[in-house]
Amino acid sequence: MKPLQQQEIARQIEGQLNALESGFSEEEVMIGKALRIAINAVLEGGHGVGAIIKSGSETLVTAGNTGSNGRPDAFIAHAEISALVKLNEAGLRDDRPKMFTTLEPCGMCTRAILIANSISEIIVGALEPRSASILSQREPLLEPRFAEMLSDREISFRKAEVRPELRQLCSDIFFRPRGQ
Ligand SMILES: [Zn+2]
Repeated sequence: MKPLQQQEIARQIEGQLNALESGFSEEEVMIGKALRIAINAVLEGGHGVGAIIKSGSETLVTAGNTGSNGRPDAFIAHAEISALVKLNEAGLRDDRPKMFTTLEPCGMCTRAILIANSISEIIVGALEPRSASILSQREPLLEPRFAEMLSDREISFRKAEVRPELRQLCSDIFFRPRGQ
């Protein structure tokens, strides 16, 4: 799909989010913010994933996926990894903040979350049944023990409590610009 078509899809999804967002719960507000980051990521030539790390009411860092910008590090430029790097750059913390992400993390990002060991919870907008392995668990050969390993580190993970339309937009912003 051409970049202009991808941007058109991102603008459509932005319009749908604008129309949806009145009366959002606190958690819907967070996923909505992550979705706007994902929309911007597509507009800037990346993939449609956004992540936010938050402690209490304080947003610590945000990051989108910059994966298709022709950068040499594009293959690791996933939103979750970028957010963890920014969190580390900001310095050590006593608390263990939470990560809100529009899409269920892939195996690489889940591994990074485990190694960084700096957050306490992963709250996921939409599932990624093909390559993720935390909630979907469709890739048992890739990593059968992610869920167990996260639990061992006391890192919890769950689907965000959001209305179905918002969950669908989190899925759309990743899959639709890829023609999927
Ligand atoms: Zn990833």
